[in-house]
Amino acid sequence: MNCPRCQQILSTRTINDYNASVEVDNCPDCGGLWFDKDELAQIDMIIEPRLVEIRHLPSEAEQLKSLHCPSCNNSPRLEKGVHPRDRKVIFDYCPYCKGIWLDKGELEAIQQENWLLTISKFIRRLT
Ligand SMILES: [Zn+2]
Ligand SMILES: [Zn+2]
Repeated sequence: MNCPRCQQILSTRTINDYNASVEVDNCPDCGGLWFDKDELAQIDMIIEPRLVEIRHLPSEAEQLKSLHCPSCNNSPRLEKGVHPRDRKVIFDYCPYCKGIWLDKGELEAIQQENWLLTISKFIRRLT
């Protein structure tokens, strides 16, 4: 699977918690993360201290670039989702496989503000 943003080959990264761990695809270049359907819901409760540190989000122009799904065969265009309370966090999701692409810093922002639940609710509305 290749990064929808910079086409680098994604490597696997494990996000750990005391009770659970989930494998996600991570871009070594831009630091983006790809979550397959249900993977984001699994890390609802997972807080990794290293991830809680706030980092800079990509610029809005960068976030609004159109991306294509790295997981589906015909690479459909990813849809944009904006967090209802903070328009700085723009995530990409695939309407077909329900995967989610988070740019570097977005997972941190979401975990900080407890937004994971909101996003997984948002995704459930799509299914
Ligand atoms: Zn990348
Ligand atoms: Zn897809």
